[in-house]
Amino acid sequence: MTNGTSPDLLNEWDRNHQIHPWAAMDAWQESDYHPIESAEGIYLWDADGKRYIDGPGGMWCVNIGYGRKDMAAAIAEQVIRLPYTSPWTTTTDPSTILAKKIADLAPGDLNNVFFTTGGSTAVDTALRTMHFMNNALGRPDKKIVIAREKGYHGSTYLASTVTGKERDKSRFDVEKRLVRFLPDVNPYKRPDGMSVEDWCDAKVADLEDMIAEVGPDKIGAFIAEPILCSGGVIIPPEGYHKRTLEICRKHDILYISDEVVTAFGRLGHWFASEDVFGIVPDIITCAKGLTSGYLPLGACIISDSVMERMTGPDENVLFSNGYTYSAHPVCCVAALKNIEIMEEERILEHTRAITPHFQSRLHALEKFPIVGDLRGMGLLGCIEGRPDTPGTSLAAERKLGALLDEACDKRGLLVRPLINMAVFSPPLIITEAQVDEMFVLLEDALEEVTAQMA
Ligand code: PLP
Repeated sequence: MTNGTSPDLLNEWDRNHQIHPWAAMDAWQESDYHPIESAEGIYLWDADGKRYIDGPGGMWCVNIGYGRKDMAAAIAEQVIRLPYTSPWTTTTDPSTILAKKIADLAPGDLNNVFFTTGGSTAVDTALRTMHFMNNALGRPDKKIVIAREKGYHGSTYLASTVTGKERDKSRFDVEKRLVRFLPDVNPYKRPDGMSVEDWCDAKVADLEDMIAEVGPDKIGAFIAEPILCSGGVIIPPEGYHKRTLEICRKHDILYISDEVVTAFGRLGHWFASEDVFGIVPDIITCAKGLTSGYLPLGACIISDSVMERMTGPDENVLFSNGYTYSAHPVCCVAALKNIEIMEEERILEHTRAITPHFQSRLHALEKFPIVGDLRGMGLLGCIEGRPDTPGTSLAAERKLGALLDEACDKRGLLVRPLINMAVFSPPLIITEAQVDEMFVLLEDALEEVTAQMA
């Protein structure tokens, strides 16, 4: 594939011509991106033949693991049979069967599936659906979105507008008038001596207060990841999801559950909203695990009750939201194959079975003094550094994330560093022995970083 191009030349072309996502602009042509050549199961191999465990599972997405030849065959067959057709004027059997399958797997009356190109466009579609519905209902002012600090919802204009991670907004413009942010819901950040129950009350009150301040007739949607993954695997306190949904229902505010990471197995269920947190939202967005990253695809799943309210008095109005690659038949085949593999190999059951071992190895890291908090659920985990001053966050200058990244990389483990944290979401097919292999490397790396930070 590289046509004999030398690694040095590839590196030069990469530096000079490829703008990578989330690039550090001050040094974008000096950054060294790791050239990965092949992969199998939970492992990646670089150009020098060095093997790595993929701790973050790509970007929280490679759920069935790498190197599935049956997936490759299904994709190839569809490429030969029908690589593309217009989603506007035609339909295909893969997209139709997938829509029906997702409707069957999704909770409650979430029966209507709009296919997108990934997570950001699924979030955009969810928010535009809210706009469309409220315009159809003659409520043009009910459009403000309540989102949360540290939430991540994507990189398009609208999705980045509702993203609550400051770092992701540097020098970009967003539509500030469209959004309000609730403060951090992380129980780890609660004041000393406060119980988790009281923290939950306080977080629910934050939402109520904001609705009262802005006015329920101005608020169209609340958007929330069940677990704030990119923000550092933040798990809201127990009861929070149900109570916030009740408040939204009371004020006719759409609840959008952003399951781009959590859907398709990460917590051992197809969708986390209902099975893990007991809620049936109005809209669910998903992507990533839908195809296990083999091809790009997202979906915005809309409830029957929202759909019913989208048809206003104007009979001929278009739902003019779409992408050339909406419902792409090859991507839909990848999703169908992915779901088939998960069903046949009982990957959800496996995830639930392996979770206690993964979580107990994660929590055993508390023996390291540099560790402040360990949190996780399913096959999601986060290590947060212990702050030098209690009640604060470990200062960015201490570079825990970068140091851990380097120490793990040396040992053949990829992690996803986040300033003073590192997060994990390995492929769901990871075995118990491989979990051990991963944590042996991590513990060794933590020893080194502990000495460096002393
Ligand atoms: N929503 C959540 C919760 C995400 O974690 C992400 C990506 O990490 C997105 C949306 C955006 O998805 P994509 O990068 O596929 O556009």
